[in-house]
Amino acid sequence: MVVIHEILPVGMLQCNCSIFGDEQSREAIVVDPGDDIANITEVLDRHGLTVKAIVITHAHIDHIGGAAKLKALTGAPVYMNQNDAELYAHLDTQASWLGIQPPSRTEIDSEAREGDQLRLGETGFQILHTPGHTQGSISIWIPAENKLVAGDTLFRDSIGRTDLPGGSSEQLMDSLFNKILPLGDDVEVYSGHGPVTTIGKERATNPFLTGVYAIGSSGRL
Ligand SMILES: [Zn+2]
Repeated sequence: MVVIHEILPVGMLQCNCSIFGDEQSREAIVVDPGDDIANITEVLDRHGLTVKAIVITHAHIDHIGGAAKLKALTGAPVYMNQNDAELYAHLDTQASWLGIQPPSRTEIDSEAREGDQLRLGETGFQILHTPGHTQGSISIWIPAENKLVAGDTLFRDSIGRTDLPGGSSEQLMDSLFNKILPLGDDVEVYSGHGPVTTIGKERATNPFLTGVYAIGSSGRL
């Protein structure tokens, strides 16, 4: 059972980096190390964890920017869906959107495809391909913990923007209604930005899911 789960907002856009650790094996999975790698390694060291996998929910710079650095420090492989390869190839363009220096890039070691599963001790981490915010957006479903790491697909009271290259409103709604909402109302959702929520809360009150707001830009990268 995973008992360690730390959420660390990193970088200028405060992307939520999730660090999962297994108390038995002391292995860890790090999701979305966008920046502030020193803060991430501090958490890893504090728990005595060794990184087994670096998983990227999508190739926006605020989620993937620190992946090369964390990989260099830990030797852990990087998992990302192939449909975001084009976006990752243009990391310098993304950096110019934010007016920052482009961070170093890394090879992607393993493709995170729909149905793939990573293991941390006894706990399975299932990859759901949830395109719409980007073509290669994934969510990570952890049934034993009843947790979903949703990247920028779903937020508390909002959803991922679809007006950037690779975005599709139609795909995003399809991902939300056919892959995420069916996981169940009591599932805790860890979004790419902002506070934790549940599927039930979003189903009931998220204006993009209840039809109050038309889909569009939520203003987040
Ligand atoms: Zn994004």
